[in-house]
Amino acid sequence: VAVGLSGPMKASGIMVCVRKRPLNPKELAARELDVISLQPPNMLVAHAMRPHVYRDPILHNQNFRFDRVFDEDCSNAGVFNYTARPLIRHIFEGGWATCFAYGQTGSGKTHTMGGVVEGRNQNVMDSIYAMAASEVFSILQEPESAQRNLRVGCSFFEIYNTKIYDLLSPGNKQPLRMQENCQHQMEVMDLRECPTSGTAEVLALLNTGNGARALGKTSANEKSSRSHAIFQIVLRSANSQKAYGKFSLIDLAGSERAADNSSSDSQTCTESAEINKSLLVLKECIHAMGRNDPYIPFRDCKLTQVLRDSFIGKNVKTCMIATIAPGMRSVNSTLNTLRYANRVK
Ligand code: ADP
Ligand code: MG
Repeated sequence: VAVGLSGPMKASGIMVCVRKRPLNPKELAARELDVISLQPPNMLVAHAMRPHVYRDPILHNQNFRFDRVFDEDCSNAGVFNYTARPLIRHIFEGGWATCFAYGQTGSGKTHTMGGVVEGRNQNVMDSIYAMAASEVFSILQEPESAQRNLRVGCSFFEIYNTKIYDLLSPGNKQPLRMQENCQHQMEVMDLRECPTSGTAEVLALLNTGNGARALGKTSANEKSSRSHAIFQIVLRSANSQKAYGKFSLIDLAGSERAADNSSSDSQTCTESAEINKSLLVLKECIHAMGRNDPYIPFRDCKLTQVLRDSFIGKNVKTCMIATIAPGMRSVNSTLNTLRYANRVK
């Protein structure tokens, strides 16, 4: 059976994939072992070993099954084809779509969503953000497209410590408020939504936003690892203010915070608690949505409040990309990520 580009989108509208990054030069230099093996298209094995004895035989393995697993040789384009890409048709049908990257800091969330970092630059062209936008424009160009009078707008913002900051108005350091608009859609007030007519314009916006987010640093204490970055592609009909379809692509805050509440610094503690909470609420919302639960606890944190319409509508689809590091030293975080991903299904 040929697997089309549409990938294995299930009826529930939730797809959970895992992407493993390669061992980095530092891990290679430290002769770290790769403890994750994949059996494409959808099986993953975590080899559990005694942490202090590297040459010890494998004690027992843990098997996981996801909708799709991507190994260290898979490109961003390869990941895109099976994750965000199938969701784009959905927004052209008037749907709401969300694609999250979840994982510990350094596991590859930003590499996947925002593009490959080369030295001090980020190649935004090679990002899921840009590939999604590019696909939107190519669908608009299709001669049979019934949606030709749709306009495309892009927003880019972050949620840092429960506050929303616009990444496309870097001059504006004031947090933004949220409100339900008169079309009963959740809206971030005064958020810039830039009208765009081609990929080149989107790339420029991504560069502006990334500049505001200060990327290219991997320390767990960098602000970018403590904030959720949200890039939205909004389709609007020419004669209506109401959003017709919306795609939210999200580079989540590092999930290690969820476990790390040991800091003595009260600022860091509050931030950790906040991130912890938002990732927990997110999991509950996605899970409830997948079960068609009438109660979805989106009010419990800022992230899910902003995404309310992507949770409570009938016409919603979600994809999660769990990013993992392969090394022995990361195995506990990796297992936490895999369990979270398992739970979301
Ligand atoms: P995160 O955003 O999850 O903290 P990053 O995306 O910044 O992690 O990735 C950390 C480092 O690992 C970066 O230097 C990045 O280029 C590299 N990296 C991540 N994923 C991959 C991958 N799939 N292939 C090659 N390098 C990767
Ligand atoms: Mg990052």
